[in-house]
Amino acid sequence: MTYELNEKVRNLIPYDPVAGDYEVRLDANESFIDPGKLFRDEFMAAVASVDFNRYPDPSAAELRNKVGAFYGINPENIVAGNGSDELITVILGAFLRPGDKLLTFSPDFSMYRFYGEVYEKTNIVAEKQEDLILTAGDVIDAVRKNRPDAVLLSNPCSPTSFVMSREDVLHIVENTDALIILDEAYMDFSDQSIMKVAEKYDNLILLKTCSKALGLAAIRLGFAVSCPKIIQALNSVRSPYNVNALTQAIGTAIFSKPDYIRKAVDEIKKSRTCLYERMLELAKLPGVRSLIKPETNFVFVEFENAEFVYNELKKHSIIVRKLGDYLRITAGTQKENDRVVQALEEILRSAG
Ligand SMILES: *Cc1c(COP(=O)(O)O)cnc(C)c1O
Repeated sequence: MTYELNEKVRNLIPYDPVAGDYEVRLDANESFIDPGKLFRDEFMAAVASVDFNRYPDPSAAELRNKVGAFYGINPENIVAGNGSDELITVILGAFLRPGDKLLTFSPDFSMYRFYGEVYEKTNIVAEKQEDLILTAGDVIDAVRKNRPDAVLLSNPCSPTSFVMSREDVLHIVENTDALIILDEAYMDFSDQSIMKVAEKYDNLILLKTCSKALGLAAIRLGFAVSCPKIIQALNSVRSPYNVNALTQAIGTAIFSKPDYIRKAVDEIKKSRTCLYERMLELAKLPGVRSLIKPETNFVFVEFENAEFVYNELKKHSIIVRKLGDYLRITAGTQKENDRVVQALEEILRSAG
């Protein structure tokens, strides 16, 4: 007997996280601040408090209480997940049936389409305009044209770093019957969140992650915020112990430190503004086509020859993310920003 993988799985192109050792890693939009170093004792104590022989709290109640208090929302309207990636898989897997239509936009977070494919949705991809700005009108037009069952998009957007206004997002939610899955992974770095009113809509799921602003990519923790009906459904379809006890303990510890979170966000925003301003200078050199003012913790730059610049950066032991003609560069420490800016200047000057 031979077991044959099905065609869908055979043909799937997996997400390709950067492998290899680089001195400067600015590819994954992680925080350059490590709370595990800052709060070593607290984190150790949190881990020591875990009953390792017991399953974790299936409702992550203590953690959700802290998260609710931090963001000013009702903890009852929050579900915790093993990263927001897990929540996306749960939502697509359970709320949409095979063949149901999932509308996404391009460019946007590439994992959306990937999971759409894994869970056998009909992926509908609407291309953004050339300026990469997505308007409420664009979204509503695409919804009218394609009649999707769900729409999944990030705001602010990765990779473009544009943000859509709160009014525009609410206009979209209020003018479609489709389920809107709104990924606010980077909203800590901007100011157009609709989290506080998310519970009022019966067709909205808002996603948050601890992997970016909070500096906790290692522990895999994310949240969904929604109305009671959807929260109840999410709780009934997710696996009961989806967030492990170590992650719950560390997550609870970090959300008990609101001052740290606010300060970290400020520092990261400072770094991205600094990186952006220095990139504005570089953008005067030949070889750079365009640069977007970021509402995130990264800058998105278009080059005449992004492939060349990307490979040259690697020779400087600097890794960023390449998407077509663009490079997405995460804001790092001052030293890391110096390294990437100096390397880019050298590369552009020697090529131009
Ligand atoms: C990084 C990122 C996430 C985070 O996913 P986790 O699984 O929580 O680490 C989600 N959405 C977007 C758009 C991201 O860039």
